[in-house]
Amino acid sequence: MKLFEVFKEAVKELSKAGITKPKTDAEIIISHVLRISRVDIYLNRNQDISFEDIKTIMKMIESRKKLTPIEYIIGYKYFWGLKFKVREGVLIPRFDTESLIEMAKKICKNPKYILDIGTGSGIIGITLKKIFPNSYVVMSDISDTAIDLCKENIVNILGNTDGVDVIKSDIFDNIWECIGWGKFDLIISNPPYISLKDYDNLPEEVKKEPISALYGGVLGIDFYVKIADKANEFLTKEGKIILEVGDEIQAKRVKKIFYLKNFRNFITFRDINQKVRGVVVINY
Ligand code: GLN
Repeated sequence: MKLFEVFKEAVKELSKAGITKPKTDAEIIISHVLRISRVDIYLNRNQDISFEDIKTIMKMIESRKKLTPIEYIIGYKYFWGLKFKVREGVLIPRFDTESLIEMAKKICKNPKYILDIGTGSGIIGITLKKIFPNSYVVMSDISDTAIDLCKENIVNILGNTDGVDVIKSDIFDNIWECIGWGKFDLIISNPPYISLKDYDNLPEEVKKEPISALYGGVLGIDFYVKIADKANEFLTKEGKIILEVGDEIQAKRVKKIFYLKNFRNFITFRDINQKVRGVVVINY
């Protein structure tokens, strides 16, 4: 079969299944399997495709028809220009989260100890280690699947495990194992923050991602409460906490939660789409 025939067939199958961007998804899958760029699909229309490759492509198309997110199918997602492996059972990185990295760059000068709570694939911690190479970055998650994936991404992206630690922990539970009773200059997290109401309304596709990485309790604030509870024990005197949030109302709630724990200095920040995306809590 010729490349353009395979492409046409893939688009047809995806359209039939009601996939919203059949062409884009077909391009992503085909270019991934054939290890070519997306424009090459159009430039090499008459290239013969091997039976093996057709089988692989069509298997992926079948999986996409069942609404498996494209990132799980091809197995990676770019974040801050770095290529992170992703797989089922772990949240797919969102570009919105890059606004937390920008904030960290803006407000931190050579942080010595950084803690990324609920790291998932490791995007925040690994990116920060790239930006602050002299820091010691602890990445934690409660999920074994996430821990394994995070370790793979560390080796792939950082090349070694110097100055980083990955630990299985529910929020702060086991963190002392990494830096003793020392404290962090920066605690950063994109915790699960989808409320009960919003979870029900999520697209089917997003529901293929682990509920444990999305659902944050009835109001979506359970994890902020847990972080606020012990933040003081783990934060240096002028330390900062950067938290992703879902919207402006949640940002207000987060500030209230930390206010009740005697924190007084906050910055609310927006993502690239001008949506409220995070809160900084400053400890002074
Ligand atoms: N931003 C994600 C979404 O809207 C949610 C991630 C999270 O709960 N931390 O699907």
